[in-house]
Amino acid sequence: MSSKITIAIDGFSSTGKSTLAKQLASQLGYVYVDTGAMYRAITLFAMQNGYIADGFFDKESLRHSLPYIRLQFQFKPELGFAVMILNDVDVEKEIRSIEVSSFVSKVAELAEVRQKLVEQQQEMGKNKGIVMDGRDIGTVVFPDAELKIYMTASAATRAQRRYDELVAKGDSVSYDEVFNNVVERDYIDTHRDNSPLIKAADAIEIDNSNMTREEQLALVLDLVQKANS
Ligand code: C5P
Repeated sequence: MSSKITIAIDGFSSTGKSTLAKQLASQLGYVYVDTGAMYRAITLFAMQNGYIADGFFDKESLRHSLPYIRLQFQFKPELGFAVMILNDVDVEKEIRSIEVSSFVSKVAELAEVRQKLVEQQQEMGKNKGIVMDGRDIGTVVFPDAELKIYMTASAATRAQRRYDELVAKGDSVSYDEVFNNVVERDYIDTHRDNSPLIKAADAIEIDNSNMTREEQLALVLDLVQKANS
């Protein structure tokens, strides 16, 4: 009987981290945590309260409101994953909008926001048996994770994937808008002072530009087995 481990999956936006992490958690009977959803929910809160509007961002008001933001994941068996609950309201759909996507990286730069979320993430993973995806999981949240994956794919591949997802949901967006958002988020996520996206020294890099989901899952399941032996 193998013991439970911590699996950290980091990488750029739309690399398919969450799809892989969800499948992996379900195969292993682990908990899956999408940390991007947490940054997105805080961004939505700031928008709902008028702290973000027309390119304006009232960081001070958001900092003061942080103690009043309660984030929870609620598992929905019919969906097969946990949805994001912001102060008792299911916001899973709203946090995936292009408006939230276009501002989330700026919110994620705030040290106070990161501190609050990292603490909550560490608490969720304290008993191991967790697959967590994000940007700083292998470097900051769980530097001792037994398995760290760093996922990459070209910006064009990632923008096409995100565009197809948004169109399938009925959002009216252009490919260029999505591509520019992907490139801008890559830049902010890798250049911020606080916990920038970098590959942990002991992370295994997977470029999935030309891999199927099945191939990625098989590869990572093999890595889990090795990490456990
Ligand atoms: O993973 P997702 O694309 O939903 O994440 C949205 C944004 O949240 C990222 O572009 C990044 O700015 C921020 N994020 C972060 N640290 C994490 C997860 C997400 O800064 N651990």
